[in-house]
Amino acid sequence: MPSYYIWTIGCQMNRAESERLSSYLEELGYDATDEAATADIIVLNSCVVRQSAENRVINKLHALKPLKKSRPNAILAVTGCLVNSDIGKLHQSFPHVDYFFKPGDCAPWLEKPGQVLPRHPSPSVFIPIIQGCNNFCSYCIVPYRRGRERSRAIAEIVNEAGELVRRGAREITLLGQNVDSYGHDLPDGPDLADLLTELNAIDGLARLRFLTNHPKDMTSKLVETIARLDKVCKHINLAVQSGDDGILRAMRRGYTVEQYRQLVNHIRREIPGVALSTDVIVGFPSESSAQFQHTCDLLSGLKFDTVHVAAYSPRPGTIAARELEDNIPLPEKKERLNAIELLQKEIATEINSRLMGKVVEILVDAKVKGKWQGRTGTDKLVFFHDERDCLGQLVNIQITRTSPWSLQGERE
Ligand code: SF4
Repeated sequence: MPSYYIWTIGCQMNRAESERLSSYLEELGYDATDEAATADIIVLNSCVVRQSAENRVINKLHALKPLKKSRPNAILAVTGCLVNSDIGKLHQSFPHVDYFFKPGDCAPWLEKPGQVLPRHPSPSVFIPIIQGCNNFCSYCIVPYRRGRERSRAIAEIVNEAGELVRRGAREITLLGQNVDSYGHDLPDGPDLADLLTELNAIDGLARLRFLTNHPKDMTSKLVETIARLDKVCKHINLAVQSGDDGILRAMRRGYTVEQYRQLVNHIRREIPGVALSTDVIVGFPSESSAQFQHTCDLLSGLKFDTVHVAAYSPRPGTIAARELEDNIPLPEKKERLNAIELLQKEIATEINSRLMGKVVEILVDAKVKGKWQGRTGTDKLVFFHDERDCLGQLVNIQITRTSPWSLQGERE
């Protein structure tokens, strides 16, 4: 049996695209393997959002050279954000790679774009609904690598979702760099709220999620729709990036701290019990200690369930890399990053401790080291023991231990 090996790093969009690619390859009769050394097709799904990620991709590419030399008939392909518009140059730099194809494109030797795939899904699956981004935040390389926004038609998404649910999926996460832009480029201009309403009606589907929201594009209609639809999880990722207006302007985020705060208050009023997560960048060019403190103050005040924090790293070609000096020393960036992680640890400890003794419903999506794991609708990770097969089930768990990162409990 021929086999394939896919190596994926980066965002959930990459994971979703790797899943789709796996499906194509399995359709064609290939088996998945964890060993690049024996695979007939090797695909690297790359990320260059940060320098550290790009370095890992380049190292991996170099490490595959001897393998490709000893097995020239194995196909080596690269996709993801490393693949820019100058594919010719990439071939020059990495002549041992057979194919480079852009994220979201179909692999060149598998020409079936847009087809509904007969995947054998896990209980929780991803569906990309919009590719690319039109925002050009000054630090971000995504619009240069993934291009402008392109939404998939509602009917195509609903069809794929229905098929996945018929095959056993219980939870669908809709993906896009900015899901709030969904539909504006389509003929009848549907939006994310319309799409959620259609998907909510699918029999057998238990949960709907979506990532990532942009604060400047989240409408009241969407907030009201999330509150109203029973299958839409009450968890929203709303990247703030900084708690300082000057830095937000330099980042070209398109909102002020006050507007962001009002949006969070509005969401919390309309969706009781909602969990919020956010993304933060520290050490953006010229970020002073006072400006950094504004971010800490915002996080202390709004108390998010989860904060994903990253140190700024300039990406060649972006507005910030062209126009702003990367003038915060690395040790200072690391110190700021650690300070936010520490602050968030305290906040999450407190938020999660309120769940002690409570019963939560989780969707079981995997077994890890002998324990079942699943997530609540509010995206809390929960572990429990059970000898029975629980995969794909919605189960009630009484929480017996809490920590900032996860919960443990017993099945009711
Ligand atoms: Fe990048 Fe900004 Fe688009 Fe997000 S919204 S993908 S940060 S340009």
